[in-house]
Parts: sequence; structure tokens; C-alpha cells
Amino acid sequence: MRSKTKLLKQYLSAEAVISNRESRPALYLNALLTGITHMPSVIGIIRGKYVFFPQVEIALTTKCTLRCKDCSNLMQYYDKPADIGLDKNIESINNFLTNTDLVDRFILLGGEPFLYKELAAVLRVVLGYKNKVKRVWIYTNGTIVPKDEELLYLLANKKVRVHISNYGEISRKKKELVELFKSNNIKYNLADEDANWFSMGTLEKRNRSKESLAEQFNKCDSYCNNILNGRLCYCARSSGCVDLGVVHNEKSVELTGGIRDALMHFVYDYVDYLETCDFCDKGTDRAYAIKKAIQTQNPLKY
Ligand code: SF4
Repeated sequence: MRSKTKLLKQYLSAEAVISNRESRPALYLNALLTGITHMPSVIGIIRGKYVFFPQVEIALTTKCTLRCKDCSNLMQYYDKPADIGLDKNIESINNFLTNTDLVDRFILLGGEPFLYKELAAVLRVVLGYKNKVKRVWIYTNGTIVPKDEELLYLLANKKVRVHISNYGEISRKKKELVELFKSNNIKYNLADEDANWFSMGTLEKRNRSKESLAEQFNKCDSYCNNILNGRLCYCARSSGCVDLGVVHNEKSVELTGGIRDALMHFVYDYVDYLETCDFCDKGTDRAYAIKKAIQTQNPLKY
């Protein structure tokens, strides 16, 4: 399920939001002005020729300082978490962005991204795509305070924002992080401590019918477009299931070589459901609210 109208709406509202207009009439007016100013891109989307991603995220490492039992990115299943090599991550980013026209929000994730020693190098590459990447977000679990001077300098770039997940006591460095970001003019937001997660269930196959899977995929709002280990998948759970070898024929794009056509298909083709949806409860009545960040001592078996 993809639609040009939806993509167009996302493109225009993303552009309007970037201009920092808060009120609804101002947003609509700005979306209209954006539509006029960015007419070639708008026509490109209508013709199905413009590769636009409202959001894409890259998991730089599967190492994390926490092991959350219900992590939606499946880090709890890795018995040997590891960094994705810098060369591999940079190759993925370069191939992806060279063949893409615009990304509204490019997110750097882990595991825990502040564990990734080459985070500054990756951030420098992403920020180098000045006209293609509108905003860069980094998601941290609030347990590590970065010290790297170059990284702090890059984090203060006006396009960058750090999102601090707030797991109460578990996010033990969140106050230090807030102080650090304030004193270095780094934009950040601290998440709401009370918000729940939703259980996506185990990695067992559910054996749902094609109709149920299509209905589930249609209801699910997790089209985060996740890159892991050189491959772009529609959602983070899908990336994890591919990487862990749970699924073997997932709809995805390997980020090597000339991939413009493959990305075009990824953005515009109708998708009924993902192979991973049959290993997931999101979008079904079986997904329920859970306390976030419950820790597990050992990696989970699958
Ligand atoms: S329902 Fe499908 S698209 Fe949604 S999170 Fe689960 S695997 Fe991803």
C-alpha cells in the first residue's frame, strides 16, 4: 500500500513543518506556497519520478547499553551485538542518498548510537547532502554522555536534533545530557516518561491468511524505512528479521550499485504486506500497551 497522494501530502507538510510554522492555517498556506515553489518536485511525485522519503533511519550498530525485552528494532535477539563497519554504513548512505531526491528526516539509530565510535564521521557524511536531507535526528536511550569534540560540534548544526528516550531511572544520564546539549547549543527533546510501548509479540510465524496480513499492514503505521547492514526495509522489525535470518524473501533494497530504479519501485509500488508482518502483532488486536524498557538479562531465543 503506497499512494502518490499520500507521498505528496507528506512532502508538502514536511516542507511546511520545516519552515517552523505552528498554526494550522499557516501550515496550509505554507504547504501551498511550497507546492508552487517546489513545482518540479511536485510534478515529479505526481509522475512517479521523484524519490522522496518522509523518513529514513539507519541502525549503525546492534550494540546497546540496555536490553529491552520489547525493543521494536529486535536488539534483544542479538547474542553477539556488533557495530556495522564504518565503510559499510557510509556505502549504504552514499548509495541511498545519491539515488534519492529528498529525505525529510534522516535518523541515526542503534542499538545505542552514542556507542558507535565513528558517529561523527557518519554524521558528517549525512550533513554533506545539504540539498537532499532536510533534518537529521539522533535517537539515544539517555545512558551515555558523548565526549567527542567533533561530534558535539556537528550535533550543534542547525539541521540536527537529539531525541532522548526517557525510561525513567534507566535513562540514567538524561539530566547530564540535557545540560550538555544546553551548554553546546544542541537542539534536543526529552521524551515523555509516561508513554507506553505496544507489544509486537515474539518472532514465531503466525500463519495468517493473505487477507489478514493485508489488513494488518494497512492498519500499521510503522513505515519507518529502516537501513540495517546495507539493506533498506520498510520497517525496523522487517530489517531485524532479515538480519537475524527469520525471513528470507522480504521486500527490500540492497544498497549497492545503481539503485535508482529499485528505490523508485520501493517508493511507488503497491505493497500488500511484508513477509515480516506474519511474525509481528502490530496492526492486529493482539498488540497491547506495555510498560516500556523492561530489561532482560540474556538475549531472547527465537
Ligand atoms: S505489521 Fe508489518 S509493517 Fe507493521 S511493524 Fe509489523 S512487520 Fe512492520
